[in-house]
Amino acid sequence: MTPSPFSATYAEARGKFLEAAGAAGAELAAMSHPERGPDGGELATDVAWIGPTNATAVLVLVSATHGVEGHCGSGAQIDWLRRGEHQTLPGDVAVLMIHAINPYGFAWLRRVTEENIDLNRNWIDFDQPAPANPGYDELAAAAVPREWTDESQHAANRVLRAYAADHGPMGLQQALPGMQRIGHTLGLDELSLQTTDTDPGALMAGKYLSPKVYIRYSYGLFNRIGGLLLRFKVSDRVSIETRSGDQESMDVIYNIEKD
Ligand SMILES: [Zn+2]
Repeated sequence: MTPSPFSATYAEARGKFLEAAGAAGAELAAMSHPERGPDGGELATDVAWIGPTNATAVLVLVSATHGVEGHCGSGAQIDWLRRGEHQTLPGDVAVLMIHAINPYGFAWLRRVTEENIDLNRNWIDFDQPAPANPGYDELAAAAVPREWTDESQHAANRVLRAYAADHGPMGLQQALPGMQRIGHTLGLDELSLQTTDTDPGALMAGKYLSPKVYIRYSYGLFNRIGGLLLRFKVSDRVSIETRSGDQESMDVIYNIEKD
């Protein structure tokens, strides 16, 4: 029996891809990555060319732009190769397969690269000046502390809380970059920064899965507490919420709105 095209690790995926591409007669090249995987193994972007070098059209298939999604993309590439789909293409079409364009993110299960770059989002035209955001300049040191100690986090919290007190939570939201735009890009119904007395920065991401089901995840930027909320609307006035908090449990809350 042929093993699944999907893989549990980057290393396993790479091995399967090289084998399938080799069997398909691909011309292979590897670009090795300076970092290593969690298993200490080599990381590389592998490139397979199948078809004529003077092809008039090239189909380009890339996996792991968002590293962790490589588990899915790699499986699709491998399955496509194993099934011999390249043989069904017209003679003047070549295929360029790029396996794990972000091998670090793939191996370490991260969207981003080793430099925290999201290859699909952090894109800016450096021929143009960067957009000005004086609020961010004021908060940058607090938003991204140089040191990550209890003291530096308390200090950062004080700065953010003071800024929110002066400018309101909306002001804080504008100063920290592009929340709403990012939320829109991700297809979320809610992406905001919430400030309370006890927590100066919680990132809330929410989406309606249907008109009746709303799911929200909150992530404390300055503590490790994340929370998941699921709200189900039973009728116009009755909804059920379950939420997880700092305890390892889910609470069920019934909301009944009265006139
Ligand atoms: Zn993605």
